[in-house]
Amino acid sequence: MTDIVKKSSFLDYAPAPESTSILHLQKSYGLFIDGEFVKGHGKSFQTISPSTEKTIAEIANANAKDVDTAVAAARRAYDRTWSKLSGADRGKYLFRIARLVQERARELAVAESLDNGKPIKESRDVDVPLVAAWFFYYAGWADKLDYAGLGPSPRALGVAAQVIPWNFPLLMLAWKVAPALAAGNTVVIKPAETTPLSALIFAEILQQAELPAGVVNIITGAGDTGEALVNHPDVNKVAFTGSTGVGRAIAKSVAGTGKKVTLELGGKAANIVFDDAPIDQAVEGIVNGIFFNQGHVCCAGSRLLVQESIHDDVVERLKSRLSTLRLGDPLDKNTDIGAINSREQLERIRTLSDIGEKEGADRWTADCVIPDKGFWFAPTIFDNVSTSSTIAREEVFGPVLSVLTFRTPAEAIAKANNTPYGLSAGIWSDKGSKILAVADQLRAGVIWANTFNRFDPSSPFGGYKESGYGREGGRHGLAAYLESAGWSAAK
Ligand code: NAD
Repeated sequence: MTDIVKKSSFLDYAPAPESTSILHLQKSYGLFIDGEFVKGHGKSFQTISPSTEKTIAEIANANAKDVDTAVAAARRAYDRTWSKLSGADRGKYLFRIARLVQERARELAVAESLDNGKPIKESRDVDVPLVAAWFFYYAGWADKLDYAGLGPSPRALGVAAQVIPWNFPLLMLAWKVAPALAAGNTVVIKPAETTPLSALIFAEILQQAELPAGVVNIITGAGDTGEALVNHPDVNKVAFTGSTGVGRAIAKSVAGTGKKVTLELGGKAANIVFDDAPIDQAVEGIVNGIFFNQGHVCCAGSRLLVQESIHDDVVERLKSRLSTLRLGDPLDKNTDIGAINSREQLERIRTLSDIGEKEGADRWTADCVIPDKGFWFAPTIFDNVSTSSTIAREEVFGPVLSVLTFRTPAEAIAKANNTPYGLSAGIWSDKGSKILAVADQLRAGVIWANTFNRFDPSSPFGGYKESGYGREGGRHGLAAYLESAGWSAAK
């Protein structure tokens, strides 16, 4: 096994960088309000490439006054145009947006990898195709709300305030904007401060699609902009994806206001591998579960629960597989592990990994060449992790896997559920009955069987416990943007 690993490191690939010539970036970007780019009144900031630390563009910063202008534009658009359109007409706009995303797919993928640091093969083959799929899916629902089983004549809520994180910048935007518009709401959305670029290109797509002014407003800024948006008195719905800490603060601040709220928060998923699982397939699933998108995935399989009898074999094969992963330029088509999104996130991953080591877990790191510039963290495994260990309890949100063992299905279930989170889980076994019996007892919103990190717009996604509440995706995702009698997304 070790020989194979050594040999493979001699098989050097020639660089295959995706060209950035397809991008037509502005030096600076304003806020997208009422169908136009306008100046922000806060202090502008720069968005940088996390792989080179070079500035990409100057970004406007929305202060409370700008938030007010954006919400007023969304309210006007709701009252005067969007709420007056038929579902079929709303659907036409959504179909148009979906097709334009497909037409500009390569440009969006390059922008996403440049700004976020994720490998181009992921932004090109996962993020952007899913963005288009989300708009196509909800375009189809726009004229069928009466038949969605959400009660008679479900009505839009009004203006939706949406705040999203940096790990899947454009995909999280699609998860929020597509169902909101299909259900007849207008939107003010704030992308994360480290990844505003694809949302700003998306604003150009909205202009191309001739979406009526004010139906979607995109405002850039940091936490204070997000805070002003969710607390604005004229929004009817708050949809937040991000950390549990901020989600908790938002839940407190909107309590009692009558705003409908969806919170998609952190996770600490268990990926459970039984001794009857197809081991090579499981190893691929473990790698995909935690090292996809540098582990910046809320539903990442960050806790590997492996049956004791196959522990040594699985860990050995895992190390061997990780030694073949290529870390480096996110725009290179051969890259498997891109850059960590920000210096701040890199520090957090380092700190938690140091704690893991101090608390006694065995640390192993893949032997990667780390580029001089930029933010990088090589794929890392912690073995012999105990359930009380900090790295088994806290979300690292990086390419770090904790390995724990179990002997019986009951022990696996108890350990999997021993977390404040409940977003996702994975089960690997060749016995369908075992998978169903275990899945039934896991407290997780999404459970994958013999696969991991698969997404589809028709499938609801969301958490239990500190992973938040409400569902995105599918019919459930529509319900989160509708006033309807007798039906709740939690059902
Ligand atoms: P974060 O909570 O720091 O920031 C998320 C967004 O909220 C950003 O746009 C930020 O500017 C904004 N924000 C910060 N403070 C705010 C406040 N007080 N009021 C309103 N908005 C505020 O999270 P992050 O570091 O950007 O993202 C990583 C987190 O997101 C992880 O915990 C991850 O698990 C979670 N996440 C969850 C899902 C899901 O679907 N459950 C999906 C992706 C990411």
